[in-house]
Amino acid sequence: MKAAVFHGPRDVRVEEVPKPEAGKGEIVVRVLRCAVCGTDKRIFVHGQKNVVPPAVTGHEIVGIIDEIGEGVRGFELGRKVIIATVVGCGKCIYCRREQYNLCDEFTAVGYDYSGGFAEYVKVNARIVEQGNVILIPDDLKPDHAALIEPLSCVLNGQEYLNPQKGDRALVFGAGPIGMMHASALKAKGCDPVIVADVSDERLDYVAKFGVGTPVNTSKGDPAELILKTAGGEKFDVAVTACSVKAVQGLALKLVRKKARVSFFAGIPKDDPVLPIDTNHIHYNEISVFGAFSSNLKHYHEALGMVARGEIPADKFVTHKFKLDDILKAYATIEAGQGIKIVIDCE
Ligand SMILES: [Zn+2]
Ligand SMILES: [Zn+2]
Repeated sequence: MKAAVFHGPRDVRVEEVPKPEAGKGEIVVRVLRCAVCGTDKRIFVHGQKNVVPPAVTGHEIVGIIDEIGEGVRGFELGRKVIIATVVGCGKCIYCRREQYNLCDEFTAVGYDYSGGFAEYVKVNARIVEQGNVILIPDDLKPDHAALIEPLSCVLNGQEYLNPQKGDRALVFGAGPIGMMHASALKAKGCDPVIVADVSDERLDYVAKFGVGTPVNTSKGDPAELILKTAGGEKFDVAVTACSVKAVQGLALKLVRKKARVSFFAGIPKDDPVLPIDTNHIHYNEISVFGAFSSNLKHYHEALGMVARGEIPADKFVTHKFKLDDILKAYATIEAGQGIKIVIDCE
């Protein structure tokens, strides 16, 4: 079979590799689509500790069940599935609570295990057992289903935010994740949903997709520009979906009493300390949350949203490349173009 093999930073080659076979407890999936995540780009450029070359990355996988190993129950050949990324150790306190994304020993499809930038991907017994192979409706478009994984991460973050109808929402970052946050907040009835970014090109998508009201914060004082766009009032929920420390402080400053703030995106590890006025948090009853990856229940929730058409999935997929052209996909992301880029592995 064909696979895009990562041999080291900036060295990905599409080559012939042996097709995986389903052993006991395992499932082999024929990949239809695998969307490209920001982390895939980061691995392509810099490599990553848990991606040991030669490796196949890609974790936003949609496919068809091609082979079912001995002892696997509840699946049929030919059914359409997605594969959840994170695999817990199965023993620790977090795994016992089914919070696999918080497991200290977690491993992941497309990192520790071969991923979806290939014609086939094998799901090992532990991953099948955890419930990571998720059946989806056969009529769900593969392009749309490829958005379920990133949307599941967004919904994990929003679980803490508990957005309510009529809440005023602010999202920093108009990348694919920021855009998904905005559309999910909108779907939950938040109004207005303001999306702040410094790139007019990205903000044009916000307007075009109808997911929120764009504001370019590079054109003056960011706080003033955001408040002006929002009619002068502060926000009930805020999400930082860009790796810029300053926006975390800005988010805290721009929310009103009893607000919920998600520090959704990580910031560079060499400079993570932010001076904050903790009295502001104390007196105003502001809650600040983190978020990392997602859990199985968020996949099911995201699947429902995509299937019901609650996010503009068609618009989100701005670029599609064949597996042979995966380098063009990386080049497109590196150039900051498009929103969601999908690899067609058929
Ligand atoms: Zn991802
Ligand atoms: Zn664990």
